[in-house]
Amino acid sequence: MTNSESTPIILWFRKDLRLEDNAALACAAECGRPIIPVYILEPREAGNGPLGAAQAWWLHHALQALHRALEQAGSRLILRRGPADAVLGALIAETAADRVFWNRRYDPAGIAVDSALKEEMTRSGLTVRSFAGQLLHEPSRLKTGAGGPYRVYTPFWRALEASGEPAEPIPAPTRLAAPDSWPASERLETWRLLPTKPDWAEAFSTVWTPGEAGARQRLEDFIDTGLSGYKARRDYPALPHTSMLSPHLALGEISPATVWHATRGLTERLAAEDVIHFRKELAWRDFSYHLLYHFPELDTKNWNERFDAFPWQDAPDLLERWQRGQTGYPIVDAGMRQLWRTGFMHNRVRMIVASFLIKNLMIDWREGERWFRDTLVDADPASNAASWQWVAGSGADAAPFFRIFNPISQGEKFDVNGDYVRAFVPELAKLDAAFIHRPFEAPPALLAAAGVKLGETYPLPIVDHKAARNRAMAAYQALPRPD
Ligand code: FAD
Repeated sequence: MTNSESTPIILWFRKDLRLEDNAALACAAECGRPIIPVYILEPREAGNGPLGAAQAWWLHHALQALHRALEQAGSRLILRRGPADAVLGALIAETAADRVFWNRRYDPAGIAVDSALKEEMTRSGLTVRSFAGQLLHEPSRLKTGAGGPYRVYTPFWRALEASGEPAEPIPAPTRLAAPDSWPASERLETWRLLPTKPDWAEAFSTVWTPGEAGARQRLEDFIDTGLSGYKARRDYPALPHTSMLSPHLALGEISPATVWHATRGLTERLAAEDVIHFRKELAWRDFSYHLLYHFPELDTKNWNERFDAFPWQDAPDLLERWQRGQTGYPIVDAGMRQLWRTGFMHNRVRMIVASFLIKNLMIDWREGERWFRDTLVDADPASNAASWQWVAGSGADAAPFFRIFNPISQGEKFDVNGDYVRAFVPELAKLDAAFIHRPFEAPPALLAAAGVKLGETYPLPIVDHKAARNRAMAAYQALPRPD
């Protein structure tokens, strides 16, 4: 081997914790040079998106899985903590690497870190290469006829569909060349990503298998049993008809292109409407990144400035009742407790609880965004912010403010027998289905038979829905009109 052939390449893993369909890894492997895979635990605010506590749990297990997969390919994962420029600078000095490869990330903090790094490293004579793969398409790629960003989903979807299939997934390399000597790695345990006392993530591992193999299995199971009927059943939280791939996608254990291509050809045995609808949901993720890319303050500022004057309530007690699933509205409480127990919440219920916080309690959507960011295993800077603004009515393509979800009728429509509520609000488990979403209207004898004492074993509603609805509408109508 000549000198340059033995000079290592640093492969920086970020939101792409996988070997398959990893363009940066594939390109590094093709060079035939030794590869030094590294994961950097960056300061929270400096890139890689926000790291909430639930996602930190996921990250711990995802890094272990990635390390194992790399070992099988003859390599390993080096762990380092600190600002990326300092960590990479040190690694380059230790290993004499002259190339750094990574897959692009699209959160504003990550873009800022990466752009500065690329400029600095290139100036000092290093070769820096970045690749696509976190999204179906680059967020800057699709443009309206006038050349600007899309603000409305449906035309975005049409443009995405018309722009051709995402690139075919690249197979995982089977062998990765190792350097003559490995740089030191920190021990994952010292990063303290897992909760200890109390271990609130105890139940997470009964639901999730972080890592690339777990993601692949989840996709296969969903295609085998969940995708059929997706369009009609995806709104029913007690039914297993959504993929639950979002946490795997959030940390890039599977690429969206892999998911997209896995659904190709399925219309021969499944209804086209199910396959298309699933792809459309996947495209919402791209749309959220498209919005974030063009409006980097999506998680902090109202897209629609009219909402800047909204009279949000400062109500820490009510916020805490919402966070703990103690609102007295069973579908809201079930959702918030599913979130606490499993780090996940069904999409329909996310919309209901978000509407409840924003419109029934009139608490700023940013409080909800923050709570979700900390408690969701799929916390994503684009999808979370875009979805909260969608529910608030302040977003680019948003539900109109007057669409205020009624937590009782939503529960009765989408959790008809109350199975979802029973699973997460055990104190109501024995209540008759007719009252499971409105226990406060149940006859005393029925409550007694079900062992429910309102105000004791289960809370009375913290607000009256109708009165709260009227208050929110009045506040909205009093907002200054757009010119
Ligand atoms: P499926 O129905 O199987 O959909 C497949 C994939 O498409 C998902 O894994 C996800 O990547 C994508 N997707 C589906 N719906 C949406 C959507 N509305 N917006 C963006 N992408 C979507 N999703 C996150 O990934 N991270 C978040 O932090 C997040 N926060 C949310 C906050 C609120 C208030 C709301 C209403 C929605 C939020 N979502 C978020 C979107 C959505 O709820 C989840 O993506 C979905 O529930 C994940 O479940 P699934 O994988 O079973 O979805």
